[in-house]
Amino acid sequence: MAVFVVGLTGGIGSGKTTVASMLATRGAHIIDCDGLGRLVAEPHGRAYGAIVAHFGHGIVGADGRLDRPALAGIVFSDPDALGALNAMTHPAIDAEILERLRTLPDDSIVVLDMAVLTESQLGAGIYQYVVVVEADPVGRIDRIIRRGLTEADARARMASQATDDQRRTIADLIVPNTGALDELERAVDIAWIAIRRAATPAAPAPD
Ligand code: ADP
Repeated sequence: MAVFVVGLTGGIGSGKTTVASMLATRGAHIIDCDGLGRLVAEPHGRAYGAIVAHFGHGIVGADGRLDRPALAGIVFSDPDALGALNAMTHPAIDAEILERLRTLPDDSIVVLDMAVLTESQLGAGIYQYVVVVEADPVGRIDRIIRRGLTEADARARMASQATDDQRRTIADLIVPNTGALDELERAVDIAWIAIRRAATPAAPAPD
């Protein structure tokens, strides 16, 4: 078996990052795609030059790094600008993912931890299986508020993302995060069995 690539997503506060680390303890190799998004926009990153050429030096800070609040201010209210930014960063992130996949031994199970899997084409054609973490909205808002956001911010962020129904249409497997952390561990045990089974090619049918 070659590497088997799982896309893992879920709305903000769903417990996606927690599930990724639980899968890591069971043997999955995790690639943090949000982190790669930051990496490609660093001064030596794959997308930095194109971003500066497109948006101008006004989005570059004194230290040469991107002024993220300035860039966010531009793309937040302008879907075309966001589309342009994604068109520069997403192929760069895909290239970083592929570079990492090449270093892994055959038979690895890789999890792409990716917030925008449903909302974008990021990783499309790379992942072979999609796992969605689902949690009830009240629990999600609670967790987001504990990170320091206001309830209004939490609701605005949730509204800007795909809905659970949209995620379900692309899911191969749903991990419910509806109870305590030890219940989530049990749900991840079951998910890990299903992922390993999906990763194992079926034996040829007997004649
Ligand atoms: P996401 O990546 O989906 O935004 P996280 O996995 O970072 O969410 O979870 C946010 C916080 O909530 C973390 O501190 C995590 O430990 C906690 N958390 C997640 N699920 C549960 C749960 N079922 N019970 C208690 N705490 C949880």
